[in-house]
Amino acid sequence: MVTRRTLLAAALAGPAICTVAGSAGRRLPPEARALGESGVVVAYGARSLVVGHHTAAALLRDLAARADAAALTVSAVLRRAVRPRVVVPRTTAEAAALAGAGPVDGLAALASAGQVIVLPGAFARLTPVGRDVVLTHELTHVAAGTEGRPVWLREGFADYVGYLRSGLATRVAAAELAAEARAGRLPGALPADAAFAPGSPRLAQVYQESWLACRLIAARYGERALADLYQRAAGMRLGQALEPLGLSVRALVAHWREYVRNELTGAEGDG
Ligand SMILES: [Zn+2]
Repeated sequence: MVTRRTLLAAALAGPAICTVAGSAGRRLPPEARALGESGVVVAYGARSLVVGHHTAAALLRDLAARADAAALTVSAVLRRAVRPRVVVPRTTAEAAALAGAGPVDGLAALASAGQVIVLPGAFARLTPVGRDVVLTHELTHVAAGTEGRPVWLREGFADYVGYLRSGLATRVAAAELAAEARAGRLPGALPADAAFAPGSPRLAQVYQESWLACRLIAARYGERALADLYQRAAGMRLGQALEPLGLSVRALVAHWREYVRNELTGAEGDG
């Protein structure tokens, strides 16, 4: 059982930091070798490894502590140990080269090849809570895998874990969707993959819809059922993956619309 106390203890433990020069004779972890020969710095958390390229020591330490805490949250949901590897490139171009696919502009972090890549500029502009949400979201992608699921399930599950210990009120985290719901507009279908394309007009809302769909499943059937559904869904159609819950896609959508309405427009008692 992961409690706030264990999370706090992990955050307070303070990871060790060491600077590793490429020529110092010490073997670099593979993540470090990808960043070049000079200016590579490494911080070891209790369960995380953070590798930076010309990264300030304070940021490395902060990331190791946050990655340790994120790992506890992700481990509790997936019911297995998670050991985060975080890489902090020096520039956006370096991040793009490391990520290998797609634009990285505007992103604070992304998941790629078994590690979380943090873009220091955008990451620094996040609030402390935002940093934890983003790191936990990306770490969920890395640890749980993303292949073979509809995008809403992939992103909704990562946001479910990401927001789990954030303490953010639902209407704050889903402000754009709440505005639509208050205006009487409720989603009619689970978001299609295309709705997640960069620059899509309702990008914020489709993430929020996906988050609430996953939160609904956890609320009705338990967190374990949500995590098991996520694993099952990699190899089958959604309708099939929902069968053990006695749930059809149609019934899920009906419950979800109701849940969105209650969570975002209902009486107070939001949390
Ligand atoms: Zn994501």
